[in-house]
Amino acid sequence: MTDIGHLWYPYTQMKHMKAPFHVTGADGVYMHTDRGDLIDSTSSWWCMIYGYRNEEICRAMAEQAMKLPHVMMANVVHDGARDFSDRLAEILPGTLNHVFFSDSGSVSVEIALKMGYQYFVNQKKPRKKILSLKNAYHGDTFMAMSVGDDEDFHGAFPKNPDVTHIPVTIEALEDAFRKEGEQYCSMIVEPLLQGAGGMKMYDASFLKRARELCDEYGVILIYDEVATGFGRTGHRFAADLVCPDIICLGKALTGGHIGHAATVANDRVYSGFWSDSRSDAFMHGPTFMANPIAMAAGLKSLEIFEREHTLEKIKNIERIVKRELEGFHPEGVKETRAMGSAFAIEAENPADLAGFQDFAAENGVFARPFLDVQYGMLPSIITEEQIKQVIDVMKAWWTDRRNRG
Ligand SMILES: *Cc1c(COP(=O)(O)O)cnc(C)c1O
Repeated sequence: MTDIGHLWYPYTQMKHMKAPFHVTGADGVYMHTDRGDLIDSTSSWWCMIYGYRNEEICRAMAEQAMKLPHVMMANVVHDGARDFSDRLAEILPGTLNHVFFSDSGSVSVEIALKMGYQYFVNQKKPRKKILSLKNAYHGDTFMAMSVGDDEDFHGAFPKNPDVTHIPVTIEALEDAFRKEGEQYCSMIVEPLLQGAGGMKMYDASFLKRARELCDEYGVILIYDEVATGFGRTGHRFAADLVCPDIICLGKALTGGHIGHAATVANDRVYSGFWSDSRSDAFMHGPTFMANPIAMAAGLKSLEIFEREHTLEKIKNIERIVKRELEGFHPEGVKETRAMGSAFAIEAENPADLAGFQDFAAENGVFARPFLDVQYGMLPSIITEEQIKQVIDVMKAWWTDRRNRG
């Protein structure tokens, strides 16, 4: 029996839980664990873009903590919130200029969907439907507002949103718009890379067509870039290729060093809330929005992103990963794919991945296969040698069948 103590772990059947890796510290690509120093091939659920314990970010956070660790944002502002929102507006494309902070990716998505919905309510032309993609993942929250009972706070929103899921094909997209285009308030996608749905990758041509159709039907296009933002796909943002009306950022927003998120709207969306009526105001406000320590981490992270040529590093990672995966088609592997700092080896049979985590750890790598994929979401500082170590462990799992008992 594993000693669970008083913890309840995520996505885990507690009754069958194996002993977790006990982490005592971490530096760069390495987690120091009770099973040795392991390269974290997942960047701590994808957020730790420059590796663990980046010294500049840690120092910025520590200094901020001594000055002002937190203050609410109701009728109050502080330098960090001002400066970080200015910088985000500066680097984001188009008129994505209006930054609404929150404390997690899931909440940033809630905020985006609420903006999309209330936009049409404010115009007195409510639209009830939301268009989404098959295999989408946008967070774990559920119904906090529905169980609330406060007309003033939440009166504008529906109890049960009506969501249509379509496959990621231009045909399905055109079909959905042809049938019900005028009923959608928003369309939400993880652009280019669907992470938690199985590291599925698709082409910018789909986004381009989605943008055209959203324009034609007046639908608000939302990118959930909580996972894909800050270079993950090889682009700073997928929004740099095709621009949405709202973008959600999280995970790497603070260099992964502290939880925070942002929902950034363009001029069109923002102007839909700008009026003389109080009821047109956006009704949302997380307690910890624009937390000063998170702002300090985010500002430092943006500085590092540019100065350290992070995008170039990620393009180099993609080149090495593609080279290492080329021609790898052993029995049991359906396909391999790579984009930016993400890659996946897809199994024909998900059961074949059982035991891989332990095997990887025995070989110096922390891995966390899920659904039918082994995957990497690599930090920008990883060396060629370390990339090879990660990929070699995954390959060995397939090529030496004895590994799998
Ligand atoms: C991780 C993730 C979220 C949720 O973020 P949390 O900070 O875990 O709430 C939302 N959308 C996408 C695409 C994600 O990958």
